[in-house]
Amino acid sequence: MPIISTTKKISQAVLNFMLPAQCLSCHAVVDTHGAICATCWNDINFIGLHKCYVCGLPFAFDLGPKALCRHCTEEKPKFNKAVAVCKYENTARKLAIRLKFGDSVSLAPYLAKMMVGSGSELIGKADIIAPIPLHFMRKIARKYNQAALLARQVAKISEKNYEPFLLKRVRRTKQQTKLHRRDRKSNVDGAFVVANVDVFGKTVLLVDDVMTTGSTLSACAKALKERGARRVYCLVFARVLLEKV
Ligand SMILES: [Zn+2]
Ligand SMILES: [Zn+2]
Repeated sequence: MPIISTTKKISQAVLNFMLPAQCLSCHAVVDTHGAICATCWNDINFIGLHKCYVCGLPFAFDLGPKALCRHCTEEKPKFNKAVAVCKYENTARKLAIRLKFGDSVSLAPYLAKMMVGSGSELIGKADIIAPIPLHFMRKIARKYNQAALLARQVAKISEKNYEPFLLKRVRRTKQQTKLHRRDRKSNVDGAFVVANVDVFGKTVLLVDDVMTTGSTLSACAKALKERGARRVYCLVFARVLLEKV
């Protein structure tokens, strides 16, 4: 209903005017709505230039522009390249958890803006932007797919073709963070199918909130490449750095 929608927008504008803007992370008062404060910003560990050329794992030292990490040297992922904005710790961890479990849908535009900043090179080459899907049972429990919230915003900001249902999770998988690296690949292998969308010769950018070892992204990339996708890139908000990956 247009009248209700307009009323809602006006009430929101009045509310924004009356209530002080709060940091999305710690709720401290800030200048603008939908942002984080300087303290929380400084607490984010952004991933710099020294990283694995393929999976984006950060290195402590500069090993050269096309250096690969141990895991990518042993077995290259099926995706061509992955980029994460920051490490999954401190403020970033807090924001990612709230996006996933706290119904904090308002966080998506802010996080997506950061992702567009870090992933501009990959986004520029993408023909299609798509989220990593949730199994429908998990989506019912959570009400929304946090990866889709981010992917939609990334596509909107960068004015790219968005395909929310490009991939489908056909079987339920265990949570990757609870598994050892060697079990993660088998957990997600064959768990995804590509929808009836033409990906032949195209470059697909997959979006997710958090990346651990990249096994899920690799399984999705495998499914897309089997359908003829030329390149698959991945863009995530935060990267989990485990000791025993
Ligand atoms: Zn804050
Ligand atoms: Zn790597």
